[in-house]
Amino acid sequence: METRVSSADEAVLAEASRLLAEGQLVAFPTETVYGLGANALNAQAVLNIFAAKGRPADNPLIVHIWNREQLAGICEVPEIAEKLMDAFWPGPLTMLMPRKSTIPDAVTAGLSTVAVRMPSHPVAAALLKQCNLPIAAPSANRSGKPSPTTAAHVLEDMQGIIPLIIDGGSCDVGVESTVLDICNGTPCILRPGGVTKNMLEKVVGEVKVAGSVLRPLQAGEKALSPGMRYKHYSPDGQVTLVEGEEQQVVAALVKLYQHASAAGHRTSVMCFTEHMEALKDCHPHDIGSRDKPEEVAHCLFDTLRRMDEEKMEAIFSEVVPPEGMGLAVMNRLGRAAAFRSVQADQVLTE
Ligand code: AMP
Ligand code: MG
Repeated sequence: METRVSSADEAVLAEASRLLAEGQLVAFPTETVYGLGANALNAQAVLNIFAAKGRPADNPLIVHIWNREQLAGICEVPEIAEKLMDAFWPGPLTMLMPRKSTIPDAVTAGLSTVAVRMPSHPVAAALLKQCNLPIAAPSANRSGKPSPTTAAHVLEDMQGIIPLIIDGGSCDVGVESTVLDICNGTPCILRPGGVTKNMLEKVVGEVKVAGSVLRPLQAGEKALSPGMRYKHYSPDGQVTLVEGEEQQVVAALVKLYQHASAAGHRTSVMCFTEHMEALKDCHPHDIGSRDKPEEVAHCLFDTLRRMDEEKMEAIFSEVVPPEGMGLAVMNRLGRAAAFRSVQADQVLTE
């Protein structure tokens, strides 16, 4: 199959809308990452998403809408959802709500809830409006790889597999939506994203964060969000996180780079803009400013993909405090590193 990449004009939106209505797959930009969309009411179309991504069938999808009236055909709407929709839709907040039987099992992986979101990206909104179907859309990457934040990233993973990628430039937020469970008492963040815990608490009071956000699932622990079970966001090389005091981290990155290079590995560091100069001999990649986790979120997946393009084998990365957008960054970076980390002071004394 030939894969066309086109920027969003009226003709392309009409074509995309026709493909979706026929049960085909279309990749489109959102404010978080690129999505791989199919008609959420068409079970076969939804199964095609799992096949295109190589996604395990027990990892459910997010349904995208442009208009709250569509909810009636998808799920029950708990009272608390109204407040959250008023505050954060359209935007990067996904809510789990009790599903209706119109939604095929394939979308929810058989769960009793369905994840729903209203994206704010103008191209996503225009496409959803034009086709007027609920669109199931996970991130448009091959399963396990970093999510795509440009049309070129989607093409890397989906060339020859889907007919159309709508190019809307690079995604603003750069990490996926916040996934919030509102069906079990105190709302609980299953996946941190562009809408932070603090932002949510201003609207609904106490919000919990699932334990597995910053660590691997423990033996016997149930995955509240099935996606948390899987290896995710990983480049082919091994990522190691370097933690500790700022100047010690920089010194440790130099030492780790030199050791890995001397051992013959293609090596790179992922560092803050402020440390690019100090690390200029360590094949550095800039992940944004130390004080701006939003910048790090925006750059993160692109940087991880560049590591594969450059065939890096050993990758050492700085970390951000796990607060605000930093929580979303560390959730992704932790998984990219399979939770492998070292303390800078220990590296320096070894
Ligand atoms: P993606 O669309 O690739 O960004 O992944 C969607 C995320 O939402 C995955 O981590 C899923 O596990 C999670 N998710 C979707 N639906 C549900 C649901 N009904 N219950 C819990 N998590 C869900
Ligand atoms: Mg994904």
